[in-house]
Amino acid sequence: MLNAVQSLSQWYRRKARPLPWRESQNPYPIWISEVMLQQTQVAAVIPYFHRFLERFPTLKTLAIAPLPDVLALWSGLGYYSRARNLQKGAQYLMAHHEGNFPRTREEIERVPGIGPYTAGAILSIAFDLPEAIVDGNVQRVFARYYGIQEEIESPAIQKLFWTEAKFWVAKAKSPRDLNQALMELGATVCTKSMPKCDLCPIQNSCTALAKGWQADLPRKRPRKKPVDLWWKTYVFEKGNALFLKQNGAGEWWEGLWDFPSVPSLTKEGWGQEPSFPNLPSRRLAAQEHTVTHHRIHVAPFHIDLKGKFPIKVEQGEWFLKEKAESLPLSSLARKILAAYLC
Ligand code: SF4
Repeated sequence: MLNAVQSLSQWYRRKARPLPWRESQNPYPIWISEVMLQQTQVAAVIPYFHRFLERFPTLKTLAIAPLPDVLALWSGLGYYSRARNLQKGAQYLMAHHEGNFPRTREEIERVPGIGPYTAGAILSIAFDLPEAIVDGNVQRVFARYYGIQEEIESPAIQKLFWTEAKFWVAKAKSPRDLNQALMELGATVCTKSMPKCDLCPIQNSCTALAKGWQADLPRKRPRKKPVDLWWKTYVFEKGNALFLKQNGAGEWWEGLWDFPSVPSLTKEGWGQEPSFPNLPSRRLAAQEHTVTHHRIHVAPFHIDLKGKFPIKVEQGEWFLKEKAESLPLSSLARKILAAYLC
């Protein structure tokens, strides 16, 4: 195993992709990148990362920013609780640590939004401390390397992953390199499909390669079948303005702006035109959007509004069309706006 740790670390130093958050060892941009990279691909994160750091270059600027500004810069990345928690975390660090990141796992896990993975990432990548990390990439590499046949979501296997990750990082000369190497290997070589085992620095001791199990591992719990929802969504226009409503507490995409929607009870009802007498309507391209285990089918309609609303809408406002794009919109609203504008 020691050989595998060394080979992997050396490989990382030669092959690491030049990503913008790897240019410094400042914990603040490392933290931002790690949070953005949860649930989001590297290529999609890069422009968001640059824009975010340009607007909020320091922990303090993030802590004192108006929340709508933070959400607006997150708009399109999805999982907005990440942005809200980043700001709460920045405020906590300003209030309790004078704007510095603590260097122990115990203290850093008290920061709102920082869990075991992010804590390990900040401590090892920024400060080169021997703290473990386990993300999806690391799980895939370990499941194959050790030939784990059980479902990886099981608590026993999750515990095993953390034990192994701690063991590997404790053996490394540079925890910073080793942790990033494990994630990099999963992202670029030990990929979900068609792993490139001939390029892998730990191929000599990999169980999956020796047994030909690469395609079968990791084993995952079968996914829940998604629940289909059918929505009609309205882009109300009056003069040069569009109507948007802000999602309230407890709603999906809390605090973000959306076009008003009404659920349709059936797929058949969903496909029909809205029956608003005397209001010209235009059907826009249908959209599909996934939230947790829900798959939302959206039929958007552009309605040229004259007078009163044909449906009841709360917490809404009119915005000039030019302004709408810069609002903190939900990802779904952004898709609908693009369909309306094209
Ligand atoms: S040899 Fe293949 S399956 Fe094993 S860790 Fe490397 S890339 Fe993954």
